[in-house]
Amino acid sequence: MKSMYVPIFKGEGRLEYETRPIPQPTAPDDVLVKIEACGICGTDLNILAVPAAHKATPNIIIGHEGVGLVEAVAPGVTGLQPGDRVVIANRLTCGQCHYCRRGLDNQCTNYKTIGTTIDGAFAPYLCAPQRALFKIDDQVPRDEAVFFEPLSCVVGSVVRAPMQAADNVVILGAGPMGMLFAMLYQTLGAGRVIMVDLAPFRLDFAQKIGVTAALNPTEVDLSQAVQELSGLGADIVVDAVGNQLPTAIKLARRGGHVILFGLRLYDNPAVNQYTITRYDLTLHGTFVGLNPFAQTIQLLESRRLHPSKLTTHRLPLTELAQGVELMRSGQGLKVIIEN
Ligand SMILES: [Zn+2]
Ligand SMILES: [Zn+2]
Repeated sequence: MKSMYVPIFKGEGRLEYETRPIPQPTAPDDVLVKIEACGICGTDLNILAVPAAHKATPNIIIGHEGVGLVEAVAPGVTGLQPGDRVVIANRLTCGQCHYCRRGLDNQCTNYKTIGTTIDGAFAPYLCAPQRALFKIDDQVPRDEAVFFEPLSCVVGSVVRAPMQAADNVVILGAGPMGMLFAMLYQTLGAGRVIMVDLAPFRLDFAQKIGVTAALNPTEVDLSQAVQELSGLGADIVVDAVGNQLPTAIKLARRGGHVILFGLRLYDNPAVNQYTITRYDLTLHGTFVGLNPFAQTIQLLESRRLHPSKLTTHRLPLTELAQGVELMRSGQGLKVIIEN
């Protein structure tokens, strides 16, 4: 049997390379994918933090932002064939819990996740059931397709707050996810897109993708700056950090919407509830999106937005740890591991 040399998550932030057999399609709906590239996600940084900020099963291969070519299919696979380019929808929901049965798949209480609880895509090959894979047109470059999973979370989040043409949007947090929000709002026809972050590198990057303004709250009075740029305050504020609700409600206009996207398990920001009530604000907690996958494929295939602009580094599989460090230290924005 052929083998592959892969980084294995050993717990406590450790990655060790091992030789493992190339997985083979065994279940009737299994698909073997030859992975072309896999993005490093904030979730991977959390898995590899000490102590871990996101749980993963030791002894698995992590990585879920993969793109690849179908190598082989089991006899029960109908919609895919060898040679097809596919991307991964990494959460395998159970289909049977109360939430799945109510159509709230993203709240499944019994899911598995490729790259967290079962083997993922920081590897030359991945075997996954066909329902986890979405075919994407060959015309979409590998380096754009690799953004499918993070972009799907953003597509699934944005849909929750009603948006009108030329609405003004503020995004708190200019990491890769905040940037994807900015790109999507630009594509959707937002008026002004204003990004907020503390890191000069990220603010420069935001300028490069053409946002209206990139603001550092240690240098400007944020409320005043947003007021001046938007007239009334933001129609929509996105918290892509996870603890920015107090700031978000200050920046939203009366009747505005706040999208809560970032996840910070241990933070408990104090919020002025009066502001939310008095100014008729609507808050939306959003988590990974409710089946945004087909729409995200269409968006990437439309070539209307180009997330590959966010990639700062491309590294081989043997340098996964260095890639994680580049993102963690803020020297890199998005790092892609390529095979
Ligand atoms: Zn991800
Ligand atoms: Zn379920």
